Amino acid sequence: MGRVRRRPLALTLLAAAVVGVGIVAAVALGAGGSSVKSDYAVATSGLERLEPADTAEAPTGLGTSRPEVTTGAPSMPLAGKTVVIDPGHNGGNASHASEINREVDIGTGKKECDTAGAETASGYTEAAYTFDVAQRLRRVLRRLGAQVVLTRKNNAGVGPCIDERARIGNRAHADAAVSIHADGGPSSGRGFHVIYPESIPGLTADIVAASKRLALDLRAAYQQGTGMPRADYIGSDGLDQRGDLGGLNLSDVPKVFIETGNMNNAADAAKLSAPEFRQRVAAAIAVGIERFVQG
Ligand code: ZN
Repeated sequence: MGRVRRRPLALTLLAAAVVGVGIVAAVALGAGGSSVKSDYAVATSGLERLEPADTAEAPTGLGTSRPEVTTGAPSMPLAGKTVVIDPGHNGGNASHASEINREVDIGTGKKECDTAGAETASGYTEAAYTFDVAQRLRRVLRRLGAQVVLTRKNNAGVGPCIDERARIGNRAHADAAVSIHADGGPSSGRGFHVIYPESIPGLTADIVAASKRLALDLRAAYQQGTGMPRADYIGSDGLDQRGDLGGLNLSDVPKVFIETGNMNNAADAAKLSAPEFRQRVAAAIAVGIERFVQG
């Protein structure tokens, strides 16, 4: 601990992944690294590895899903920190319209529980995408020592509703919460953007400043780590501030949404559909979270 690190470990991991030298990532992790296998190597092996916990339980219904909690080694830079990852939507939402259309309180009014989410032209759903990225991100964050909570266990269930997704972050007293999405924007528009909350007295006023900092850290890390351009069809310079999202309005912890690309755009969809790119997405988001949490 006496040596000054020149860059976050997650950045080291990312650099290793980008050049495709998985072993460098393991070595860079130092103590305990000998048992660590590069996510990049996993991603390119053609085998999708599931955490045991991901397959331990049957799909859950609305309101019955419990978040998973995993803890990393105490010597890691994010030891003692809690990160909530919220993979947007769920695989069962599309076939459960009545549950998903049920209105919930979002602090400023009512809004539907959730939506089915976006989908690429070839049928890759946003729900499947966000869950895949969330699992990859969890692995990276755990290696950095973070305690990680996911808002859903698998991609075969329904919900949880947006208000519950916010409450999961609150109950975990998360140091940062990130909701992962891929947009369903106009097919001519491409790029990513990060959404942070508007200041709403009594709701988000106390988390806006920190959430904006998280948004800026994520924007920088995501652009650098993935090469995805800032959205040219929404927001401004890859940022958008919104007061209509229950997942943000009801959060008591620093929280943002990241729309990692536009599934309706052919160029973005091609990237988002590639496992290697999703590994970059996860590594880049981890860098942004680490920068934010470490201040
Ligand atoms: Zn979404």
